[in-house]
Amino acid sequence: MIELKSLTISKARKHLIDGDFTAGDLTDAYLKRIGEKNPDINAYLEVFDDVRAQAEKADRILKENGDKSPALCGIPFATKDNILIRERTASCGSKILEHYRATYDAGAIRKLKEHNPVFLGRANMDEFAMGSSNERSAYGLVRNPLDETRAPGGSSGGPAAAVAMDGALAALGSDTGGSVRQPASFCGIVGLKPTYGAVSRSGLIAMASSFDQIGPLAKTVEDVRLVYEAISGNDPKDSTSFSKPPVADRRPQTKTIGVPDYLEKMEIDEDVRKNFDDALEALKDRGYKVKTVSLPNATHSLAVYYILMPAEASTNLARFDGVKYGLRASGSDLFDDYVKTRGEGFGAEVKRRIILGTYVLSAGYHDAFYAKAVSARQSIAREFVDAFAEADVIATPTTPTPPFKLGEKTADPLAMYLADVLTVPANIAGIPALSVPAGTVIRDGGELPVGIQFMGPHYREDVLFAVGEASEASR
Ligand code: GLN
Repeated sequence: MIELKSLTISKARKHLIDGDFTAGDLTDAYLKRIGEKNPDINAYLEVFDDVRAQAEKADRILKENGDKSPALCGIPFATKDNILIRERTASCGSKILEHYRATYDAGAIRKLKEHNPVFLGRANMDEFAMGSSNERSAYGLVRNPLDETRAPGGSSGGPAAAVAMDGALAALGSDTGGSVRQPASFCGIVGLKPTYGAVSRSGLIAMASSFDQIGPLAKTVEDVRLVYEAISGNDPKDSTSFSKPPVADRRPQTKTIGVPDYLEKMEIDEDVRKNFDDALEALKDRGYKVKTVSLPNATHSLAVYYILMPAEASTNLARFDGVKYGLRASGSDLFDDYVKTRGEGFGAEVKRRIILGTYVLSAGYHDAFYAKAVSARQSIAREFVDAFAEADVIATPTTPTPPFKLGEKTADPLAMYLADVLTVPANIAGIPALSVPAGTVIRDGGELPVGIQFMGPHYREDVLFAVGEASEASR
């Protein structure tokens, strides 16, 4: 029996190399666990039919190469339903893509395949990655494995729940406004949104292209780093992707943590705030200095996001017209085909954002909304660059509340949008951000996880991993 609860990628790696168990044994243990838990949690939409063959191949590589095998060889992964794997379905949590099969691998998948991990299956998500609770999937909601009456967070609720229920060692999610970090926080695991451009977006079904990034979810900072190292780097198929530039500015680690002044203006749950303050105190004991940094315009990040994101999403979703991909509903003429297909294929939240996006881009409103939001975005991004002259990292709680109850926010889109108020600034600025578990709060007599978020300068994931590990170790 392999003990999955305390297993991490680095531990599993050692066992695989030492021959304590094989990738086949490991895969079987995960399949068993998924069989037991998935009917309740609904983290996976599909378990792939070739997992044993993948594991056998990993075992051959491990046998031949021992510790020279790629770092993630034989490691079981869950992947979000919006990341293309060749010849596999990718439905993006939507009816409109129910039967869509990918014709190529996403850039991140291509890089990961070089390691020969085991892709266990595709994980549930909010439709088109729009949501913060994973209640907006066309294929049923996902439950938080730590408290099944609560949301796992979204939109990568499936990938996060898959890891948290011990149904995978790591997962790939996508983060446009917080969708890796918020579910990581709600499920008590680690999640990274890389610097914009660090991971290829080729083969990630687009939501808002200037914000979207694929990011890893796993149980420890070290595991997240291993996955990040495997998937990052230039991809000629994504013109916005880059190879990590050599870091010129190797500042001596002054270890200063900035706390943004905008936190004071936000409504943050008292217990979450207390946990955050305690986490900072623990870091002070490890030699970090904490100071307040001023980011006056960043307060408007959520407003800016909810103009630019729907504008880009409405444009990206125009391609789903019943002709090129997926669902097709026949009407009386071509226009009626479009109307019927999109009417039947998209859920309510997706339609709301298409309407919002088309509105802010329309003649007459474009300058008042879209153009203003673009310029506000630039000032916010500049503010962060300036703030990093004073602090090595900037810390906030990951979410303003602990995991909320299923159904609690579905009737009120604005309340749902507020779940992202602390994660969205990093997407606006294009900077990397990491969520690490930081204690628990008590609700209804049970413990619920909360996370601390560290944001770093562009390309400085290394700084985030260092402070993230320090925070992890101080718990
Ligand atoms: N929850 C946010 C939204 O609904 C973020 C989504 C995401 O990061 N994909 O837009």
